[in-house]
Amino acid sequence: MAAVRARTVLLTGSNRGIGLELVKQLLGASRPPAWIFATCRDPEGPRAQELRDLASKHPNLVLVKLDVANPSAITDAVKIVEGKLNGTGLNLLINNAGIYTPTASLETVDAEEMIRTYKTNAVGPMLMAQAFLPLLKKAARESTEKGLSCSKAAIINISTIMGSIEKTPESFFKPVISYRCSKAALNMLTKCQALTYGEAGILCVALHPGWVKTDMGSQEADLTVDTSVRGLLSVLLILSEKHSGTLLNWEGKAIPW
Ligand code: NDP
Repeated sequence: MAAVRARTVLLTGSNRGIGLELVKQLLGASRPPAWIFATCRDPEGPRAQELRDLASKHPNLVLVKLDVANPSAITDAVKIVEGKLNGTGLNLLINNAGIYTPTASLETVDAEEMIRTYKTNAVGPMLMAQAFLPLLKKAARESTEKGLSCSKAAIINISTIMGSIEKTPESFFKPVISYRCSKAALNMLTKCQALTYGEAGILCVALHPGWVKTDMGSQEADLTVDTSVRGLLSVLLILSEKHSGTLLNWEGKAIPW
C-alpha cells in the first residue's frame, strides 16, 4: 500500500482504535517509515499487548510511554525520541489520543468533566506540538522538498466533525458538550498552528476520521477502522500548503469550521 513517505512518525494513543490501526498500516506500507514512535499511556500494560507484539516483529517500531495530559511525560518522551533520532528531525506528529464522554449534556456536564476533556483533547495536542517543535523544524530544514507536506514536516490533529460549529445542528441529537467544545478548541489550535508554524515549513491540518467502529465510536459506527485509516493515510499523501489550517475528512473533503 502507498502511504505517506515520512521517514519518522510519532503518534499518540496508539495502543488501540484508530491509533493502533495507523501503526499497523504504516508498518505494512510499501515504504514504511524508518522510525515509528508509537506512544501510549501504559506500554507495559494489558491494553498494549498488540502493540508489543508488533514491536517484537518490527525493529522500526519504538514504544514510548506518554500520557498527553501529563506535561512532564511529554518532556520525557521528547528526550527518548531525540535519542533514537540521533541528530535528525521528526517528520510527522499525529495527535490522535482523545477522550469522549457520551453522557455529557448541558444538563449533566460539570466543570471537572469539561476541564478533563479539554486537557486531553486540546491542551495535550498543543503541548505535544510545542515540545516536538524543535524536531519538526529540524526535519523541515533537512528536507529539500519545496512547499509543505507530511513527508517534510507536519502536525496532524485528529479532530472530528463534532467540533465544527457550522455542522453542529446536524449531529446535536448527541450533545456531548465536553467533547464538542474540546474539539472545537483543537480546530482553532490547528488554524493558529498553521499560521505560526507554516513559516518554519510545517504543515498543520485537522482530520476527521469518519464515524469509526472503535471503543469510542462503538460497533454501530459507519466505518471499519481499516477503511477509515486507509482513507486518512491516502489524505496524508496528498496534503500540501493549500490544506494547511483546514479541517478535512478521511476522504479529503473539506469540513467548514
Ligand atoms: P479509542 O477510544 O478507541 O482510543 C482512544 C485512544 O486514546 C486510546 O489509545 C487511549 O489510550 C488514548 N488516550 C486517551 N487519553 C489519553 C491520554 N491522556 N494520553 C494518551 N493517550 C490517551 O478512540 P478512537 O481510536 O476511536 O479515536 C481516536 C481519535 O479519533 C480521537 O481523537 C477521537 O476523538 C477521534 N475520532 C474518533 C471517531 C470515532 O468514530 N471513533 C470519530 C471522530 C473522531 P488508553 O488505552 O490508555 O485509554
